[in-house]
Amino acid sequence: MTGSLFVIVAPSGAGKTTLVEALLREEPSIRLSVSFTTRSPRPGEIHGREYYFVSRTEFEAMLASGEFLEHAEVYGNLYGTSKAWITAARKAGEDVLLEIDWQGAAQVREIFPDMVDIFIMPPSIETLEARLTARGKDSPEVISRRIAGAREEMRHISDADFVIVNDNFDTARSDLRAVVRATHLNRERQLERYADIILRLV
Ligand code: 5GP
Repeated sequence: MTGSLFVIVAPSGAGKTTLVEALLREEPSIRLSVSFTTRSPRPGEIHGREYYFVSRTEFEAMLASGEFLEHAEVYGNLYGTSKAWITAARKAGEDVLLEIDWQGAAQVREIFPDMVDIFIMPPSIETLEARLTARGKDSPEVISRRIAGAREEMRHISDADFVIVNDNFDTARSDLRAVVRATHLNRERQLERYADIILRLV
């Protein structure tokens, strides 16, 4: 059975990364796609774990040879998702999770209309600002650019299948898990999974 495709969209500072880490611990069968980016690594980030860090020339060569399922420019850097990796993982029946921006999510929807789009929302702009500042990884200019970007990103909440407000971490964590579990109970998937039983019942 083809694996499910989860796409998580969130403005930076919504707490997406921590939520995703918790989800992957609880649902270890989900595979996280590692994107390619031209952004420089932040302290502590490792090539191949958070991202594959590549030069703009390398990125553009990959783009020209059709290696990306989607790509977008975010805050002046290019980001892209490997098409081959996603296709192979899903074919092998594995669930895949992408952490990308709304522009990328819209491109993925065109190719895989069955994707599950989950939008993670911060409880307020003040919380977002406080989280970005506390992270201590970006300069004040970058932070204010990201806050402006977050406002823009929030407009695309209307594209999402599910919305999770990250006010209380534990609630948001269990909400995210509930979306994954509900997706696994989708009728078409269940009909495929339990085809033998259903054929005998109906
Ligand atoms: P950051 O640089 O803070 O890790 O990510 C900045 C933004 O780029 C976030 O909104 C993140 O979701 C988005 N992003 C990360 N990887 C990808 C990708 O492969 N494709 C797209 N379209 N956006 C991405």
